[in-house]
Amino acid sequence: MANDDQFKKVISHAKEYGYVFQSSEIYDGLSAVYDYAQNGVELKKNIRDYWWKAMVQMNDNIVGIDASIFMHPTTWKASGHVDAFSDPLIDNKDSKKRYRADVLVEDYCAKIEAKIEKEVKKAAKRFGDAFNKEEFVSTNGRVVGYQEKIDSILKRLGQSLEKEDLADVKALIEELEIACPVAGSRNWTDVKQFNLMFGTKLGASAETAMDLYLRPETAQGIFVNFLNVQKTGRMKIPFGIAQTGKAFRNEIVARQFIFRMREFEQMEMQFFIKPGTQKEWFEYWKETRLKWHKSLGLGDENYRFHDHEKLAHYADAATDIEFKFPFGFKELEGIHSRTDFDLKQHEEFSGKKLQYFDHEDKANYTPYVLETSIGLDRMFLAVFSNALVEEELENNTTRTVLKLPAVLAPNKAAILPLVKKDGLPEIAKQIVEDLKWDFNVTYDEKDAVGRRYRRQDANGTPFCITVDHDTLEDNSVTIRHRDTMEQKRVKIEDLKEIIKAEVDVKHWLKKMK
Ligand code: ATP
Repeated sequence: MANDDQFKKVISHAKEYGYVFQSSEIYDGLSAVYDYAQNGVELKKNIRDYWWKAMVQMNDNIVGIDASIFMHPTTWKASGHVDAFSDPLIDNKDSKKRYRADVLVEDYCAKIEAKIEKEVKKAAKRFGDAFNKEEFVSTNGRVVGYQEKIDSILKRLGQSLEKEDLADVKALIEELEIACPVAGSRNWTDVKQFNLMFGTKLGASAETAMDLYLRPETAQGIFVNFLNVQKTGRMKIPFGIAQTGKAFRNEIVARQFIFRMREFEQMEMQFFIKPGTQKEWFEYWKETRLKWHKSLGLGDENYRFHDHEKLAHYADAATDIEFKFPFGFKELEGIHSRTDFDLKQHEEFSGKKLQYFDHEDKANYTPYVLETSIGLDRMFLAVFSNALVEEELENNTTRTVLKLPAVLAPNKAAILPLVKKDGLPEIAKQIVEDLKWDFNVTYDEKDAVGRRYRRQDANGTPFCITVDHDTLEDNSVTIRHRDTMEQKRVKIEDLKEIIKAEVDVKHWLKKMK
């Protein structure tokens, strides 16, 4: 299936099966704002829990907080967001469409990358089992040429952005002959910076109202609480503070469904360390976060690191964990070595000391910070798009199945009476009553059982449990596995343990070890 078609399928499946709706759809929606529906909210909560358990519950030196979305406006002066939280934008004069200049260039590079992938596929077919991808991409003249072109374009883009040389970003777009995807023309305006923060007001009267921002990242709520947490939690460096919550950005171009939203949720952890140790902690968190991703079984080949050419004003090293979305490899999570920039800035702007007394060294210092920052909605899209597959079955039919990792699935089991009579619904409902203490389960009696299986497959439910006439005799039921479609006869009293073995967080998170 072409990637575009696959992505369209993902969006329509998300709506049809109650995962994601467009916000205020009856008023034709609001651009880049989405609502999570009855199944989506469960999947999102399970992803959040999976992250929280791995970060907070499993680490005795990481604690959580829940800071407010509104913060004192000086926070954003200190953090640099008022002056520097902007994206370079460019308009096409014919279509009047607005683009992120850096994204136009990156999309151009993605097209060259697609050519590399095509060459690789062709060669893999030609050489068969003897094909060595690494050797091929490092020796094939055409592929090496493509890669060099990508590297030199991204290097120049990074350097121009770093130097704030927006004229050169425009020159690059012109030299590469990038055309507006809508108008097809190359009639561009100059590149300008555009601040992404949403402003609002606090207070009743116009004269006394205070200008506020909706937070563009959750991190600052952690920095301003650093000393409160350290003191009240008697935390010793190295330690981390984790937080999940909403963030808001007035994105210039917000396409690609929930990948880039104007209101989204982040899961961030700031790890406070001794200055000078940032390199090892950077490596540690890179590796640890990648293991977390891989533990979900979405395919190791779907992740890669992308080190930043252009570093944000606060960072001395940064990398992205990129995931292969239906529209290509894109950032899923950022890992940033933020130095002592934020704490120092807050010290300066607040006039309050934000230092740590190291009992071993008998000295005060401003800790350095290692940040892991992942978008919950992007993670949702990664999981959901990866899970949606069309399978050819042996009898020449197809089935749509949402192969969500069982630990994240909204419903763990559907309980189905084979027929709506003979006391079968009563037994099925009793099973629901017993299991719902431990898992989200659902009852379904409508349509033939085969159709109910298909419905639950498309919904991502890992198990279907069917109550039939034999159940009346021997208290056994059929349990059907979503992915293998294998069916087994088991005792009702064993159901809880069978389901638990596959959906338990422990079973999944242990894969990180
Ligand atoms: P991008 O380059 O895609 O704009 P970013 O580098 O600005 O992202 P960060 O500031 O590092 O993103 O934010 C951390 C994480 O928050 C990102 O890795 C991403 O998963 C998520 N995120 C950022 N912006 C958005 C958005 N507009 N919608 C959804 N998720 C987002």
